[in-house]
This record gives sequence, structure tokens and C-alpha cells, in this order.
Amino acid sequence: MSSRVALVTGGTGGIGTSICKRLADMGHRVATNYRSEEKARAWQQKMQAEGYDIVVVPGDVGSPEAAQALVKGVEEKLGPVEILVNNAGITRDTTFHRMTPEQWHEVINTNLNSVFNVTRPVIEGMRERKWGRVIQISSINGLKGQYGQANYAAAKAGMHGFTISLARENAKLGITVNTVSPGYVATDMVMAVPEEVRAKIVADIPTGRLGKPEEIAYAVGFLVADEAAWITGSNLDINGGHHMGW
Ligand code: NDP
Repeated sequence: MSSRVALVTGGTGGIGTSICKRLADMGHRVATNYRSEEKARAWQQKMQAEGYDIVVVPGDVGSPEAAQALVKGVEEKLGPVEILVNNAGITRDTTFHRMTPEQWHEVINTNLNSVFNVTRPVIEGMRERKWGRVIQISSINGLKGQYGQANYAAAKAGMHGFTISLARENAKLGITVNTVSPGYVATDMVMAVPEEVRAKIVADIPTGRLGKPEEIAYAVGFLVADEAAWITGSNLDINGGHHMGW
């Protein structure tokens, strides 16, 4: 297995941390971004204590300039980015009739515009080297919609539209582009949902529990493997059976 350079955005979060570890366990050299230096240093030290050497570089993925600087920073430290996992994301939940322009734009910018901002500076290099893996971390709610999440569902559905177009444009160049759509995973994002709402969600999941971040990371590891070269333009649902489609 080749050792590749991987950039995981939002790597300090619940799912992102597991993705960083999984890719590092596979022998890849992994970097992530941060907005708060203090938080990033604490996270990096925790990773080091667990035996992981993850590079952290500043970068707000909602800004094209900052994303460009992020990619440049990773390339200076590790070399050209060969695996990109667009994982950074936020929620600003409220019903649409109450939603402010700020709540709409913040979610679209962080979850969807970020995908342009970070992928654009890496795609040309992947095309030249004729190898690449780009993975969008979307959401079950981009597929089925969710009360109070018109902004988030629009962004997450948009990510897969991006995936299937980029997959077509780059299929002949050894680059695969895929989406992973997690269901409800026990991270801070989901634990912030009121307990009674969470209990209702769990009652609706056929496996009877929330997902674990490692279960999402496993899928990312699967998709980045050399053997996954013929999987492109796909969406992988990982949701304990919460939403089944075909
Ligand atoms: P967390 O809130 O735990 O982590 C989110 C990460 O994204 C953090 O590292 C955060 O950094 C980073 N981030 C947020 N905004 C920006 C920004 N503008 N620039 C750079 N980094 C940013 O979320 P999860 O781990 O739960 O979610 C990860 C992804 O999975 C998201 O895209 C989410 O939508 C998706 N998802 C999650 C589900 C779940 O059940 N948890 C279900 C389905 C999808 P900082 O600390 O600086 O804020």
C-alpha cells in the first residue's frame, strides 16, 4: 500500500478525528486545518499521546484565500495532497420560515462553498499526477430532508451534485470522487440536539443506536484504497438502516 498525503478538513471534530486516525493507521501522512490555534494544539497533543502525528495548518474552509493558504501549508509540510476529505461542517438549525439570511449563508458557505474552496487548489495537481481521491462527507439529511434543516440539507445535497460532476470530469485521470452520507453519529454535533429529540431519532434507527465516528472513518479508508479505483461518483449511506434507498 502506498503512503499518500491526506488532507482532512474539520479533522479536530468528532468524525474528522476518526478519519485522521484511520488514514494514519493505513500509513498515510495526514494533515488537518484549524481555526483556533489553542484548540488545535490541545488536539494535536492528545493525538500525539495516542501515537498519531497529525500535521495541523490554519485555515477557515469558508474562505477561498484561507483554503488556498491551507493547501499550500500542507504541501510545504508534507508534499502534494493526494487524498482530500471534505469533512468540515456546521449546523444552524431552524425552520425555514424563521431562518435568517445569515443562518442560510453560513451553512451554505461552510458546508458547500468550502468544497469548492479546498478542492480547487488540489485538483490540478491530482490531474497532473493521475491519481487522487476526493471524498465529500455529506449527510442522511441531504438525502431525505429534515425539519429545521433547509440550509443544511441544501448544502449536503449540493455536495453530492459536486461529487458526480467532478467524478465524470476526472474519471480517466485516476481520480475517484465519492460521497459518504452518515446518519446520526454520536459526536458533539448530535449531542447538542436536545435529549428528547435524540431519543426519538434513536427510536427511528433500525439498529437501535447512534453511529460511531469510527464507522464513518472505516468507509473513508475503504474508498481511498488503490483497490477502490473503480468506485467513483457513488454515495455510500452509513446510517444503521435509518434511510434506505437505491
Ligand atoms: P464536529 O462539530 O464535531 O466537527 C466539525 C469540524 O469542522 C470541526 O473540526 C470544526 O472546527 C470544523 N469546521 C467547522 N467550520 C469550519 C470552517 N469554517 N473552517 C474550518 N473548519 C471548520 O462535527 P462532526 O464530526 O459531527 O461532523 C463532521 C461532518 O460530518 C460534518 O460535515 C457534518 O455535517 C457531517 N455529518 C455529521 C453527522 C453526525 O451525526 N455527527 C451526521 C451526518 C453528517 P472548529 O473546532 O474550529 O469549529
